Amino acid sequence: MSSEGVYNFTKIVASIGPNSDTRKTIRDMVVAGADVFRINFSHDTGRVQGHKIDLIRDVATELQKPVGVIVDIQGPKHRIGDFETDEHYPLKVGGRFTFDDDPTPGNSKRVYLPDNDVLKSLNVDDRILLNDGKIEMRVESVSKHKVVATVVRGTEIWSRRGFNLPDTEITTSVLTAKDREDLEYAITKRPDYVAISFVQRASDIAFVRDFIARRTAYPIKIIAKIERPNAVERIDEIVSVSDGIMIARGDLAVEVPYEQVPAITRKIIRVCRMMNKPVIIATQMLASMVESDFPTRAEISDVANTAYLRADSAMTSEETTVGVNPVNTVETMARILTFSDSDTIANPYDWSRVDNVPQNDWSRSVSSMAFLNHASAIVVFARDTDATIQISCRKPDIPIIAVCNDSMVANQLCLLRGVSSLFDTQLFGMRDGFNSARRFGIHTGKLVIVDDEKISLRTLD
Ligand code: PEP
Repeated sequence: MSSEGVYNFTKIVASIGPNSDTRKTIRDMVVAGADVFRINFSHDTGRVQGHKIDLIRDVATELQKPVGVIVDIQGPKHRIGDFETDEHYPLKVGGRFTFDDDPTPGNSKRVYLPDNDVLKSLNVDDRILLNDGKIEMRVESVSKHKVVATVVRGTEIWSRRGFNLPDTEITTSVLTAKDREDLEYAITKRPDYVAISFVQRASDIAFVRDFIARRTAYPIKIIAKIERPNAVERIDEIVSVSDGIMIARGDLAVEVPYEQVPAITRKIIRVCRMMNKPVIIATQMLASMVESDFPTRAEISDVANTAYLRADSAMTSEETTVGVNPVNTVETMARILTFSDSDTIANPYDWSRVDNVPQNDWSRSVSSMAFLNHASAIVVFARDTDATIQISCRKPDIPIIAVCNDSMVANQLCLLRGVSSLFDTQLFGMRDGFNSARRFGIHTGKLVIVDDEKISLRTLD
């Protein structure tokens, strides 16, 4: 929600990179509608990127507006080793190619696989997808020091290509040595969320939670990035132990048949709603805006669907990291979402028919009370994030104003659909609830006020 009182129900997560990591651009992106920033630690070490968190905090203080920060940890993204030269080496469909543990430079017959655990995890018939899936190979034989594969698709291969293994349960830790170093540093800067890449199972999240808890008492929340088929299969157990989900469609569309991504997206949004967890839809939302000032029609539709599906947030990636005009991209996303949100609100969905939350659940009562009384807003006195998240996940389609006495709670709630948070340690009386609603442009009508166990209906006067 902007200071002018325009409701931004679907939140915007903007990735920051070389074209947007100045104080001015970050400020302009917040004014344009960015609610949360994502700093991708894949592209550098954490230490080099830490100042971005300082800039965001600075801007939030200046604008007196909670803004969330997600530190995105690279995770075990696999790459092949170097080749003898920088040339592209030809591949022949039906021919053989070997991956081994010999660190000498590769050639048209073989290449080094730097991560030995990956070599050990591969099984006969597993697919190896290189270069965003443009090259496909299938494992033919496995021995102690090498894996021989048949080329199914692709004409050339060259140094340091990334690869995905959609059929392989990888036994390496979810945190690489670089990730541990990055995370160790990142938590000293108190991000609101850390996002973990290539999560495969619930125990990956438990591992990261423990890693963080051993180093800080701050309740930094953990987002699981869903980009592997085995994570999709185990989505219920992963959602249940995570604090939020990012549907990382970039790698996901390489690892699963891409036509399945929309169906998987819908399923994950449903699971998240049932388990009271926020969900971000990520990657290529406005991809053409890396180079252009205008979105394509298909991109407009993709962004709008984030609102229509009642996901919590839409995310920008390269559009705002290396794109020609990151601020214009956020403005474009906000413009699409503002219209689509108001359309969904004008046509409320009867969630009681699909919501698996029990009839007597208190958050459902809050949502029904607001709906049946045509309330203008729900005001929550939020001592932590729990109550607000639960109410948001009932999708009440009216503004939820979270009055927070902890800045981290206010920042974390920025990711949540329909929630406008404000941080003020003094605002914890009923009159403060009314005034908080007015601060967001709500001057008339009824308010549902939630204060711990007490739920009441008040008329704004
Ligand atoms: C993705 O793959 O969609 C994603 C968000 O991850 P990354 O940008 O870290 O590759």
